[in-house]
Amino acid sequence: MPLLDWRDARHFDTHQDLPCTLCGRPTPMRSHDREPVHKVCAEAWLDDHPESDRFHN
Ligand SMILES: [Zn+2]
Repeated sequence: MPLLDWRDARHFDTHQDLPCTLCGRPTPMRSHDREPVHKVCAEAWLDDHPESDRFHN
């Protein structure tokens, strides 16, 4: 499974939780594209879509 490095503050929205685009539960996490998504959900998704760069950076 690919591991993302989302320690940077830009991956964390301190203002609000939004529904994860993958599992639907609230999350403060954001992809580089500002998609609300849990890090673990994004990693699982990438595991199924190894050709995609959706959640990279
Ligand atoms: Zn999720």
